[in-house]
Amino acid sequence: MTKKKHQDTTIVTTGRDPHNNHGVITPPVYHASTILYPSVAALHARDAEVTYGRRGTPTTFAFQDAVAELEGGYRTLVTPSGLSACSIALLAHLKAGDHVLVTDSVYGPTRTFCDVVLKRYGIDVEYYDPVIGPGIASLIRAETSVVYTEAPGSQTFEMQDIPAIAKAAHDAGALVIMDNTWASPLFCNPFALGADVSIQAATKYIVGHSDVMMGTITTNESVWRATIKNHGAIGITAGPDDIYLALRGLRTLSVRLHRHMETGIFLAKWLEDRPEVSRVLHPALPTDPGHEIWKRDFSGACGLFGVVLKPVSDKAVAAMLDDLELFGMGYSWGGYESLIIPADPTSNRTATKWAPEGPLIRIHAGLEDPQDLITDLEAGFERLAKHS
Ligand SMILES: *Cc1c(COP(=O)(O)O)cnc(C)c1O
Repeated sequence: MTKKKHQDTTIVTTGRDPHNNHGVITPPVYHASTILYPSVAALHARDAEVTYGRRGTPTTFAFQDAVAELEGGYRTLVTPSGLSACSIALLAHLKAGDHVLVTDSVYGPTRTFCDVVLKRYGIDVEYYDPVIGPGIASLIRAETSVVYTEAPGSQTFEMQDIPAIAKAAHDAGALVIMDNTWASPLFCNPFALGADVSIQAATKYIVGHSDVMMGTITTNESVWRATIKNHGAIGITAGPDDIYLALRGLRTLSVRLHRHMETGIFLAKWLEDRPEVSRVLHPALPTDPGHEIWKRDFSGACGLFGVVLKPVSDKAVAAMLDDLELFGMGYSWGGYESLIIPADPTSNRTATKWAPEGPLIRIHAGLEDPQDLITDLEAGFERLAKHS
């Protein structure tokens, strides 16, 4: 087969080599710290693929190769959480005196990293309006070395015009990092949009079963050397059993994600018509302000979206959420189960104001029967009305 394969085929074939593993289909779990070299010459040659456990084993490389191929990047590094992927990608490309532009809709803990760590090391952190588009050019200075993007935004789901931002950044010699967790590697290719680095909180859909923390940093060829050098220098590493589970989760990413998308859109449309709902934040809905960009740049949606309720008391929201049967309350998302939490991004904003007309809730559509999820939410709305 010479024709370029479809993603669903790649997801099955990538990152494995059964005939070098006794015919075993799934790459084996290599547990290693020390790696033995056969001779002094081999030790000094510095050309071994596997050098030391911290720098990865064939289990690590299988997962990294798979993610790199799916993200459409040059190569990938694994980190032990999504947040460490964000922090290492930033550290790798910033130094004292630099200026970094970060979207105001950034994942909260990434903002904390910027404010608590980057600022302490003399990096000027500035937040920008997520929907700034080409206007980002006016914020870029000579010292700007990174523009950090995330689409749609954490909790608030604004789409970003990544091609316009990338053009302005590149014109000024800055590079673009995109947190691509929401779309996963399947529904957005940040490199095709002009990003230089793509991050996945693999904890979410790649692992897909709410049981492992994992992150990935994928880069284009030009920023690869600086990224791997810093990743190695920092000493971060992920364990082989966790990587094995991430690679195992990855194999079913497409079938799961299509179902998450379908159920998510189904719930979002149903919610949009509810009298208790003011608006639904979901870029796949034609009513969403980011819909045109989503249609242009993404090929699908995951199961995570927001709902702004009409003004109602916190007590009523708690009554609705507390007794849901199928929606669990907890942080993170991307597993097979449905989740719901009240969200309040107000204190995570400095460049823009988040002042919705009512309480915000965030929903993750899981793989349960969609009609059962509706029944659960319907009962929740009855409790909400009773406590209003
Ligand atoms: C969850 C998340 C992260 C962090 O991932 P962890 O594995 O929880 O550290 C980073 N970015 C986004 C967009 C996320 O949703």
